[in-house]
Amino acid sequence: MQLLVAIVLLWLMAGAALIWRYRRDLLSLWREPVLRRPVLVIESDDWGPGPKADAQQLHRIAKVLSRYKDSDGHPPVMTLGVVLAVPDAELMRQEGGQRYHRVLLSHPRYPAMRDVIQRGVASGVFALQLHGMEHFWPPALMAAARLDPGIRHWLASDDSRTEGLPSHLQSRWMDAASLPSRLIPENQIKAAVTEEVEAFVAIFGCPPRVVVPPTFAWNPMVEKAWAGAGVRVIVTPGQRYEARDHDGVLITTGIASGGRILNGQAGAGGVMYVVRDDYFEPALGHMAEKGLAAVEIKTRLGRPTLLETHRFNFVADPDVADAAINELDGLLVGALQRFPEVVFTSTEQLAHRMSIADASLVEVNAMRRIAVWLLRLREVPRLWKLAWLTGVIVPASLLFFTVRLFCGATPHRA
Ligand SMILES: [Zn+2]
Repeated sequence: MQLLVAIVLLWLMAGAALIWRYRRDLLSLWREPVLRRPVLVIESDDWGPGPKADAQQLHRIAKVLSRYKDSDGHPPVMTLGVVLAVPDAELMRQEGGQRYHRVLLSHPRYPAMRDVIQRGVASGVFALQLHGMEHFWPPALMAAARLDPGIRHWLASDDSRTEGLPSHLQSRWMDAASLPSRLIPENQIKAAVTEEVEAFVAIFGCPPRVVVPPTFAWNPMVEKAWAGAGVRVIVTPGQRYEARDHDGVLITTGIASGGRILNGQAGAGGVMYVVRDDYFEPALGHMAEKGLAAVEIKTRLGRPTLLETHRFNFVADPDVADAAINELDGLLVGALQRFPEVVFTSTEQLAHRMSIADASLVEVNAMRRIAVWLLRLREVPRLWKLAWLTGVIVPASLLFFTVRLFCGATPHRA
């Protein structure tokens, strides 16, 4: 009898130790909102100044999006992560390339792009997000150009695209002229954030509420400056990359336990993080089916599906672009067929509904939240392994199946 009591006590202690060890993960996964319906947002980055053909492609995308509606009558939304400026190659050539000059999207040579964006926003198929003044840090690019003829050529060419830069130079919020990257002084960050937010307002007539940091690299100083300028939401891949190492590889830093960012988590100055870690890049083989599989998984875990895509899918090779637009069509047809209750929305709206715990989207039923929370715990591999080893998995499973019994076969209406 005494032996049995000792075993039970030991088991309870092991369980308590496990909970204590992983309390932060358990708590942050519990705090992450549980969504009641599948949510699909298509997030497309890098749109900005470019040839007229880019605007025509964006117009084709808008036409595809406007063919569909979710059960609430809302069209699918493609968020546009907008780059506001590119180098003024002509002026820089005239001056011998010693000083950096930019040309903004507001320049008279880009009316088609501005027009297609504004019309898409007005009809609800596009939502604006700030990607950056440029898709690079100009002083770093100029410093790199002094040593690298390839960068000098890139800066002097009228048809250069940022996608063509070495990836480490595409990060805006670090000085990666040489590697490892260096921090940009805070006063320069503040000035650059103020400048890009003011330019966004001047071009679009509204302040940016959502930011997608180029290459997902930013740091707390940038975040504070964005928050101070009115930004409310930062799109993340579930990590914050702050620097690049000797090889140019992005380096993460720990924000929460394990360095992982979850939906709804708060950052500096009260910004909200959302997670975008699924892909719809047809030019790279990430087709509609992959996007739909992502919706399936995210929905089971009570999370929104933010599908990442980029301009290059739609503007590079005409055949590739046609195929990408067909895939977009297939994605939307598939989403409505397989998830009749899917919610089409923008990231800004989604974040707003999460922030006010809008009961039409965010689960408040404790039993359903527990069921989803237990599913999410599998994402902490060591916790899962230890739960098996200590036998804590037994009461956890009993809890899961009891909850499932009470709230139906699935905690979602997917
Ligand atoms: Zn980008």
